[in-house]
Amino acid sequence: MNLSDIPVILSTGSPTLLSADASATVTDTTCPYCGVGCGVRATRHANGSVEVAGDASHGSNQGRLCVKGSALAETVGLEGRLLHPQVRGADGALQQVSWDHALDKVAQGFKDIIAEHGPDAVALYVSGQLLTEDYYVANKLMKGFIGSANIDTNSRLCMSSAVAGHKRAFGEDLVPGNYEDLELADLVVLVGSNTAWCHPILFQRLLKAKEARPDMKLVVIDPRRTATCELADLHLPVKPGTDVWLFNGLLHYLAQHGALDQSFIDAHTSGLDAALAAAVPRWPRRARTAPMSPRWPRPASWTPKPCVASMRCSPPRRRW
Ligand code: SF4
Repeated sequence: MNLSDIPVILSTGSPTLLSADASATVTDTTCPYCGVGCGVRATRHANGSVEVAGDASHGSNQGRLCVKGSALAETVGLEGRLLHPQVRGADGALQQVSWDHALDKVAQGFKDIIAEHGPDAVALYVSGQLLTEDYYVANKLMKGFIGSANIDTNSRLCMSSAVAGHKRAFGEDLVPGNYEDLELADLVVLVGSNTAWCHPILFQRLLKAKEARPDMKLVVIDPRRTATCELADLHLPVKPGTDVWLFNGLLHYLAQHGALDQSFIDAHTSGLDAALAAAVPRWPRRARTAPMSPRWPRPASWTPKPCVASMRCSPPRRRW
């Protein structure tokens, strides 16, 4: 696969696309689709149509939008939206019903199940797009009224490990860096992230930085061989479940080879001895590379080595 085959880097937005319309209303906003947080300029014309372009003054995307953000204007219409409650009839077809009817039906369903099996027989799985107040009401309903703790959200599932990691490593839930840091880094390590598809504009920024500074190295740690690996100097396809062993091993290796930055450690960290003591018994001799999917052609030169310390678990496309 060539980098130019990666669909996410094909589309860019530009403020110059916006038509000159004195009566238009321009709103600076943010693309909601992924965590890159690209700045968007949405222009609403007098005839009701909407144009969307990247905000050139925004620090995240500097005017660029990926294919998802570029299509935002197509999503503001009402066509295809669910505007009324619908209930599936006995014939299997969905029929429009009133809100009262729909709410009564849901309430009766909850009531019947709880009466027969108890409150823990029901659960709510809540959207990650709700606001804090919405979560509060949903939790009140489930925990305070129904009497079960069976409520979760995809926002907690997808971010809880990151939040726990940030709090333990940095003391609070924040990302200790910005996109410029990544562009300036000599080594960027992406762990379990298919940035090319999931954070396309950030990937474009890395791509440009690497083109301008070929010495910049990119390592991808991921059981899958994703589009992001096309840019990587090294892909480590660790076996799922062995990433902690890998990081313990890397920490142990750095300490063993005197490669720790002692002045940084003294100034900005605490608990290194405890971290090393915890890492050493878990020295990852058992870490293994993931079996390659038949969908990912295995190069003839591929020789899997469970040698994490040398960081040569997979055949890099370009060796350092
Ligand atoms: S990278 Fe694409 S999807 Fe993500 S915020 Fe930017 S425009 Fe939206």
